Amino acid sequence: MNEQTKRTIESLKNNRFDAVYFETAAEAKEYLLKEIGDQSAAFGGSVTLDKIGIYDALKERGNEVYWHWYPEEGADRKKIMMKAMTTDVYLSGINGLTEDGTIINIDGTGNRLSGMLFGHDHLYLVAGINKISRNFQESMIRIKNVACPKNTQRLGIPTPCEKTDKCMNCNSPNRICNATLIMEKQHGGIPTTVVLIGENLGF
Ligand code: SF4
Repeated sequence: MNEQTKRTIESLKNNRFDAVYFETAAEAKEYLLKEIGDQSAAFGGSVTLDKIGIYDALKERGNEVYWHWYPEEGADRKKIMMKAMTTDVYLSGINGLTEDGTIINIDGTGNRLSGMLFGHDHLYLVAGINKISRNFQESMIRIKNVACPKNTQRLGIPTPCEKTDKCMNCNSPNRICNATLIMEKQHGGIPTTVVLIGENLGF
């Protein structure tokens, strides 16, 4: 584990979050499968979680799982998002994490941020160490100029950053960063575990 990651984990714990570290995504997946057990689980949009393959593993194992990225044929996307609000556990990625233990996430719709705030017994936030920045300002710059353009390009969403690779602080109806959740300390809504992985995952 590098020094920056050590500092970040210490800060997260000081902020009353639980924090665990794994060198590889495979180890993190095993940890999550064990932690979740037979509980129901829902997912917020996350390239990191998709890469880890935890959704498929839970589904194959027979857990009740909801992810609007993988709707059953004919299923209503909004209904899946509503179901996802009431599962035992909620899993999401992280857009930005600072060395002082602040967790930052942005959302276009709001379902992912809602899932992080209330309605579940436990929240797992999973991220590669590439999501760590020195401070809040640097994290926001990274989110808007790396994460957002890569996501709009991945999804083919026509925003200025999709074309320019840079945030133009747009007023586009397609904007994907309409709401920002800054978790400074463990809040009363859901006990949270940050699962950090010593790999570059997601954007
Ligand atoms: S404000 Fe617009 S241009 Fe900037 S990151 Fe968000 S969607 Fe992209």
